Amino acid sequence: MQPAPLAWCAIFLSPMLPGGLGLGVFDTCLISEELAFGCTGVQTAIEGNSLGQMPVILAGNEHQQKKYLGRMTEQPLMCAYCVTEPGAGSDVAALQTRAEKKGNEYVINGQKMWITNGGKANWYFLLARTDSDPKAPASKAFTAFIVEADTPGVQIGRKEMNMGQRCSDTRGIVFEDVVVPKENVLIGEGSGFKIAMSTFDKTRPMVSAGAVGLAQRALYEATKYAMERKTFGKPLVEHQAVSFMLAEMAMKVELARLAYQRAAWEVDLGRRNTYHASIAKAFAGDIANQLASDAVQIFGGNGFNSEYPVEKLMRDAKIFQIYEGTAQIQRLIIAREHLNKYKN
Ligand SMILES: Cc1cc2nc3c(=O)[nH]c(=O)nc-3n(C[C@H](O)[C@H](O)[C@H](O)COP(=O)(O)OP(=O)(O)OC[C@H]3O[C@@H](n4cnc5c(N)ncnc54)[C@H](O)[C@@H]3O)c2cc1C
Repeated sequence: MQPAPLAWCAIFLSPMLPGGLGLGVFDTCLISEELAFGCTGVQTAIEGNSLGQMPVILAGNEHQQKKYLGRMTEQPLMCAYCVTEPGAGSDVAALQTRAEKKGNEYVINGQKMWITNGGKANWYFLLARTDSDPKAPASKAFTAFIVEADTPGVQIGRKEMNMGQRCSDTRGIVFEDVVVPKENVLIGEGSGFKIAMSTFDKTRPMVSAGAVGLAQRALYEATKYAMERKTFGKPLVEHQAVSFMLAEMAMKVELARLAYQRAAWEVDLGRRNTYHASIAKAFAGDIANQLASDAVQIFGGNGFNSEYPVEKLMRDAKIFQIYEGTAQIQRLIIAREHLNKYKN
């Protein structure tokens, strides 16, 4: 298979791969921010690899890690995280894809949606229901699999036309009687939900760093423009209303950066960072949208036009409030974690 060009960067964003650079989440976030300053579509495509690999880094046995993470650095390749379905996004426990055990194999049937790198991946991390009892708790009902993308029955849909980040490949994928050996189960039957959710403690800081990269770009573009563009005989920056907007934007970028760095630092120290990861994700997602909108405002009519850089930033920013847990879901997590501190 030909190496996908983006996959070379995946090595840098693959902290703990066999043959990787041995970077922590903190280091990886710094690279994510820089990539996102250039283009968050590129950063998302690369971050999609971190998301697909993280469950195998966290829960894979030695054989699985060598086989599936090893090839990521050897060739290198892309992979994807297949959890969301047409009928279940935020409510992961409602997903319908089923895996039925038959001897030493599982047969998977179902449909996944909005899968980043869906058409480029060499293998998928996939979450499916294995307990047929609808009353079984999520913590026991789901199993995590590694699925080779070229397995018969994997049907990859068309590339979706999204509002922004258009260079990132997002697709629906149908799994029809897809046979997966039991060696490709992560940990064991029933462990999938926890694996899929704990992945986000490590990947949400990276997504937040991406949002900060976009916000920093918005501030950079707005500042440059405001220094050059003149109205009423002086540059925009000399109108206090505009310079105060830039000051507010600078405050938000700095604080969002500190938030993702705290979340990354905590998890690199081996401490539970769910609270900080959700704060970083929620805050950075929101400020990326605010700053992109403010940058368009400072550009005036030009900001509304696709010949100028800030229109793309505004389109690209929205997804940071949606994927890897929406802005609302982050607030549910923050509230739960906050209240738990008071109950204990
Ligand atoms: C470009 C793109 C890339 C993606 N990449 C991937 C990927 O690689 N892998 C993957 O598995 N998924 C991926 N996703 C899916 C993404 O994670 C989901 O879209 C997201 O989790 C939201 O799910 P949903 O779209 O079903 O919205 P819904 O869950 O239907 O939510 C709709 C709205 O209701 C709100 N809401 C829902 N429940 C509650 C509640 N309890 N309280 C308050 N508000 C609530 C939500 O915040 C949202 O605003 C991607 C999506 C996009 C658009």
